[in-house]
Amino acid sequence: MIRKCPTHSYFRGEVCHCGETGSLMLNDEQTERMGRFISGALRHFPDDLGLAMNQHGWVDVDVLCDAMISRYRWANKERLFSMIESDEKGRYQLHGKKIRARYGHSVDIDLDYPENILPEVYYGASREEVDILLEKGIRPIRQRYVHLSTSAEKAIQVAKIHTDDPVLIAVNAEEAQNDGIDILDATEHIVLADEIPPQYLSLVED
Ligand SMILES: [Zn+2]
Repeated sequence: MIRKCPTHSYFRGEVCHCGETGSLMLNDEQTERMGRFISGALRHFPDDLGLAMNQHGWVDVDVLCDAMISRYRWANKERLFSMIESDEKGRYQLHGKKIRARYGHSVDIDLDYPENILPEVYYGASREEVDILLEKGIRPIRQRYVHLSTSAEKAIQVAKIHTDDPVLIAVNAEEAQNDGIDILDATEHIVLADEIPPQYLSLVED
């Protein structure tokens, strides 16, 4: 659930870190439903909702709210903000009257993030796919971008959602970027690229 502390604003769970319980914004079911709606709207089907997404993935927050409220009578703008501002993964970005997803798009957009400065980034693969990735490179599947992690630990964590026994691939980001491949910072933990050709990949032995 998402609640609002009078001092520290929105938080997830029952008690703020200061000990206040505050007031309820969204119960668990509402959090889940709104989360699924916002993710779909900002990553996968903005056109179906008439959101007029621009090339950098931004839509008008009020237009999004209207589409959301027409589906969920309990929804409102403050509840939307409570979800976005308490999101631990930083999935969404608010800027003035605009909102966008930071990553996870399947729609064809062109995100304008700063360039990654880490020399190496990481990708967690399953045992079954690792050979083909090392041979052919990493390409997005049903997504606009390849999603890479800023640390080995995060890459393994992400891969474990899909496989029990992930294998770690290191990406020589510095060299790739020197060769003109864009690798962009989406969040503290996630960087995006159109694709990573195989010459920049190496298997990390455990
Ligand atoms: Zn508090």
